[in-house]
Amino acid sequence: VIADKKVKEWKYAVCGYCSTGCSLEVGVNEQGRPVATRGVDDGKVNTGKLCIKGIFEHELSESSGRGVQPLMRDRIFDDYKPVEWDEALDKTAAEFKRIQDKYGRDSVAIVSTGQLMTEEFYTLGKLVRGCIGTNNYDGNTTLCMASAVSGYKRSFGSDGPPGCYDDFEHTDCLMAFGSNLPEQHPIIYWRLKEAMEKRDFPLIVVDPRVTMFAQFADIHLPITPGTDLVLLNAIAHVILKEGLQDQDYIDAHCNDFEQMKDVVDKYDPTTAAKICGIDEDMIRHVARIYGRANSAMSIWTMGINQSTHGSDGVCAINNLNLITGNIGKPGGTSLSITGQCNAMGTREWSACSGLPGYRMLEKEKDRKEVAEFWNVDADFFPPKVGLKETDIFPAIESGQIKALWIVATNPMTSMPNLPRIRKTLENLEFMVVQDGYRDAETTEYAHVYLPGAVWGEKDGVLTNTERRVNLANKFVEPPGNSKPDLWIFNELAKRWDVSQQMKFPAAASDVFDEMKQLSKGDGRTLHIAGMSHKLIEQQRGIQWPMKEGEETGTQRLYSDGHFQTPNGKANLMALDYIENNEVPCEQFPFWMNSGRVVEHFHTRTKTGKLGNLNKYSPTPYMEINPDAAEQLGIRSMDYVRLVSRRGDAVVMAQLTHRVPRNMVFIPFHFHDCVNHLSLGLLDPHSRQPAFKQFSVKIEKVDQL
Ligand code: SF4
Repeated sequence: VIADKKVKEWKYAVCGYCSTGCSLEVGVNEQGRPVATRGVDDGKVNTGKLCIKGIFEHELSESSGRGVQPLMRDRIFDDYKPVEWDEALDKTAAEFKRIQDKYGRDSVAIVSTGQLMTEEFYTLGKLVRGCIGTNNYDGNTTLCMASAVSGYKRSFGSDGPPGCYDDFEHTDCLMAFGSNLPEQHPIIYWRLKEAMEKRDFPLIVVDPRVTMFAQFADIHLPITPGTDLVLLNAIAHVILKEGLQDQDYIDAHCNDFEQMKDVVDKYDPTTAAKICGIDEDMIRHVARIYGRANSAMSIWTMGINQSTHGSDGVCAINNLNLITGNIGKPGGTSLSITGQCNAMGTREWSACSGLPGYRMLEKEKDRKEVAEFWNVDADFFPPKVGLKETDIFPAIESGQIKALWIVATNPMTSMPNLPRIRKTLENLEFMVVQDGYRDAETTEYAHVYLPGAVWGEKDGVLTNTERRVNLANKFVEPPGNSKPDLWIFNELAKRWDVSQQMKFPAAASDVFDEMKQLSKGDGRTLHIAGMSHKLIEQQRGIQWPMKEGEETGTQRLYSDGHFQTPNGKANLMALDYIENNEVPCEQFPFWMNSGRVVEHFHTRTKTGKLGNLNKYSPTPYMEINPDAAEQLGIRSMDYVRLVSRRGDAVVMAQLTHRVPRNMVFIPFHFHDCVNHLSLGLLDPHSRQPAFKQFSVKIEKVDQL
């Protein structure tokens, strides 16, 4: 209920949950407390609409579990003692230095998030690489977006989604892979639905489960988990065999067409249909619709990315759009729908991508440019690419990493194979957790806890799925003695002598101005030099690139057919399928699938506290097909024990035809649940885990 009468002032922000990037206003009352949230009518993304999470977002500032004072202890599991900031920061810096002196510079690691402001990511990157001197710094985006990053780089030479939401208004066909848009990104779905109502173009959804999105589709392809690459190769096979490709575009703008064609030749629909578990004529039908459309676009989320073939799957989607000439034109694109509100920010400004502004650590020129700009010695600046989040935990296990700094992420719920992660964290000599929430499960394994401010308590920008940079203004003070992450990074930087020759601006707008300078340069896609906080708010978000002197941003990348590769052409990739999942067997006969529900966000550190969200989705559950349930003697709402080779979890059964007989599904948000079971084999290119492709058995539970 929006209590308008209590609102004294409305303050502009962009939503802090998902990557849709809805513009909103938070109403603050006489006492300065947030009491309401409403959509912004002229918001470019959402034109006034919000989903259930956005509607109740103001409640976040009153939620329980917040940290209000730094905490310290000598040994994990002892009681924490409250301390002053100086003591906590001194201890953190001293322990990092002690461990680096003893074991080497790369004996420490930092895992960040997609939840901070972009200015904070940039500053953290500067502190980690310029002062601490390691590249073992990654974002939790490796759990959700790394395959998209890797696939974009391999195909186009650079990260960055080339399309935008406006493409829905122009496309003649949309194919979605492993994306449940109505629940994961409700306002993007609403945009798509409106466009479909106006122009009635076909929607094809590829997903092993009958998701809400699949229910709304014209064609649903319920493929066997992990076989997307086979399907994509088969679609390309039909398009090429029937001459539906855009040969002029291929000849002018693509490398390695013949190599790709040789591999695709092997994936005829008859062979592919057997592997994918679908009808071969349906593959031909879908290929003809896509190939004959004037413009066609593909979107995807975790069904593609969270796979041992995630990066290849993304490249195969890019292949499909390149051979049909569907990149950089209205309605023709490869659009990865990102997850967190600022997953893009961390990719752009220093975690996954290496160096700020999509510069690469491997390139000496890029390293020198950044070192010079920051005024640090280029020789101190480490050239070796660091460990990804999924490689950091095994490195702790093997003794290579001795100290870990976790910033606003909760691996003790989000990482696969949690029983192993739990033992791993106990091996660390030192761990610091910086998070707005004291009760996030990972905090239990830390020696130092630093209470950070959260969305609404600090200023900065976030980048959404369509590269739109938008402003999230502060509308309330952080509780107790918690501090904005930018302040924490700046204060910590002071503990390294080298910081005295560098600049660490205190205000987010000044950091943004510094980033603008670093975004300049010929041939760069990630230009933000024409933006300012003020202009961003006025325009309700601006899509990069926007160069100095330009009036607004850019809707689409690569419209001129020029890519970020050495010869300016996109790379068509020859991609063979290798079966390397943990597949169902006699002992573990069910595929385990996981995904999101609309009420919750990630590990529920935020949404698990909000009554209006939690009451609609209070507990984990398992979807099971009624025929499979009958065979096992399981009734609706029975509790069952799911067992994998890693661990077990008890959940309530929900009987539904959404899942086939050999599959069960669990929402991933809950602690001590799906990640007690998951294996998380890694994609070799992106190092992203295959959360969705492993096997379990089901046991009845007579008594809880
Ligand atoms: Fe926020 Fe995403 Fe909902 Fe929009 S769709 S209100 S960005 S959670």
